[in-house]
Amino acid sequence: MKYQHRGVTIWLTGLSGAGKTTIGKAIEKELSNYNQKVTLLDGDILRQTLCKGLGFSKSDREENILRIASLADSLTSEGYIVVVCVISPYRAQREILKQQIKNFIEVYVNAPLAVCEERDVKGLYKKARSGEIKNFTGIDDPYEPPLNPDVECRTDCESVNESVNKILVKLHI
Ligand code: ADP
Repeated sequence: MKYQHRGVTIWLTGLSGAGKTTIGKAIEKELSNYNQKVTLLDGDILRQTLCKGLGFSKSDREENILRIASLADSLTSEGYIVVVCVISPYRAQREILKQQIKNFIEVYVNAPLAVCEERDVKGLYKKARSGEIKNFTGIDDPYEPPLNPDVECRTDCESVNESVNKILVKLHI
C-alpha cells in the first residue's frame, strides 16, 4: 500500500440533498479497501449526539461546526481519514477550519438548488416551502458556496463514482 498513514479531514459542504452523505459513504467504503483508519462524521447523526440541543440559528450553526471540527481535528491528528458531511453554510467559518485542521480538503458537493429540491430526499424542502420549517439553508437561510474548493463534485451531472474518484485523487491513493 502506497498511502502514507497521515490523517486528513475531507470536508464535504453543500446544500441539503446535494449528495454529501451518499458520496461520504462511498468514500468510506472505497477506503476500507486500503486498510486505513476511516471515520464518517455525518451532521444529521451528530445533531442527535455531540451536537444535540443545537438549532439552526447562525450562532447554533456555528457552534455545530465548531464541535464537529474539534472532533475531526483530534481524529486527524490520530491518523484517521475523517469524512465530514455537513452543510456548513458559512464561508468565513470554513476558512477558519482550513487553518485549524492540519490536513484539510474542502469538497464542494454542488447541485443546483432546483435539483436538490426535486430530489427532496428527506422531504425537508417541501416543509421549508410551506413554512413548516424555518431557516432552511437555500430557502430562507444562506448558503455561501466555496470560491476555490480543493474539489468540486457536480452531482447533477457526474456519477457518484466520478465524484469519489476526484476526491481520491487528492488523497494521492
Ligand atoms: P446530503 O447528504 O447532501 O443531504 P444525500 O446524500 O442524503 O445528500 O442525498 C443525495 C441524493 O441525491 C441521494 O438520494 C442520491 O442517491 C442522489 N444522487 C443522485 N446522483 C448523485 C450523485 N452523482 N452524487 C451523489 N448523490 C446523488
